[in-house]
Amino acid sequence: MLNRTLLSLGTETAFTVLARAGELANQGKSIINLGIGQPDFSTPPHIVDAGITALRDGAHGYTPSMGLPILREAVQEDLSARYGYCPPISQIQITPGGKPVIFMAAMIYGGVDNEIILPNPSFPIYQSAVAYSQATPVFYSLKEQNGFAFNADEILSKITSNTNMIMINSPHNPTGGITPPSEIKKLVEGLTLHPNITLFSDEIYDRLVFDNKPHSLLSYPEIRDRLILLNGWSKTYAMTGWRIGYGIWPKQAIEFADKIGVNYHSCVNAPTQFAALAATTGDQSCVEEMRLAFNRRAAIITHKLNEIKGISCQKPKGAFYAFPNISAFGISSDKIQTELLEEFGVAGISGTAFGSFGEGYLRLSSANSDALISEACDRLKQLANGYL
Ligand code: PLP
Repeated sequence: MLNRTLLSLGTETAFTVLARAGELANQGKSIINLGIGQPDFSTPPHIVDAGITALRDGAHGYTPSMGLPILREAVQEDLSARYGYCPPISQIQITPGGKPVIFMAAMIYGGVDNEIILPNPSFPIYQSAVAYSQATPVFYSLKEQNGFAFNADEILSKITSNTNMIMINSPHNPTGGITPPSEIKKLVEGLTLHPNITLFSDEIYDRLVFDNKPHSLLSYPEIRDRLILLNGWSKTYAMTGWRIGYGIWPKQAIEFADKIGVNYHSCVNAPTQFAALAATTGDQSCVEEMRLAFNRRAAIITHKLNEIKGISCQKPKGAFYAFPNISAFGISSDKIQTELLEEFGVAGISGTAFGSFGEGYLRLSSANSDALISEACDRLKQLANGYL
């Protein structure tokens, strides 16, 4: 008999669509992939070289479970330089991608009797991990009319005596929205009345911000002792397949985060940690080049989408996703996702893959070439013509 708890696990539709897009491409169909959320750039050569050198130099064994001390120090210095706060090294954990930090946070702060407040729409693993922990998910909405920023009053109004953790994500997947500092400040101030609630801030897109202003919860001293921060190298340095990220944990949680890591993955592979070290300590011009490219493509995709009758799309403020409103089509986003891929060869993700409030929207990643983004929008226009 299978463990019944498994029935609570969700998944990430982007991987299902990626597999189907691959099948169609193998059959010789012309496929444009705007589905999966990963930079289309290669990892910059100096980072790849550092990984290869580490392998050649014999970095073949286990490392400390929390990560190489030199890498944790580099993370500490990087955060200190960018956000003016130096988290204790003992609270920095290197993980195989940013994703495990979500799962660990749900295991540590979830569980029966606890409520966890999270955004809708949001990265689907939040809901999956919360449900798997047996906690009750309580959703707040991210609305198009608010630029997909959260509303602090709405979040605070959801708090009950059972609330144990609140999850936020800015810049945001799937909408590309960024919550302004005024709203974040309001949330942080509101939480001073609830000292037992932990705040989880997913900042995996913190370097992909188009106004180039710093956006981190680390900038708010009042909340630091109960903040879980997720970040990593996947999006910033085009390193999704290397599998490396990090979590900054509250003091009381770190022992358990480490225990879960030891039970599950032991440590991140050593050469990847050396590659990440080269990324963090090396020349940062590659990050700026990719940020500018994503900003340019965000402008292209928004312009092209808004030219299509029946579609409206806000320009994303960060990350690399557009979240066009397609409700005028009058059919479900799931159906549009299927038709767009099967009939028109464009992989995009239904808004409902990120929660029920995503109905009427589509997530299109702009991590593709300018030409293919334009071509994908032309194909979407053909689809739209069939409905409008
Ligand atoms: N958090 C968000 C909001 C994401 O979009 C993703 C990846 O798409 C992750 C976390 C996980 O990143 P990683 O690939 O480093 O595990």
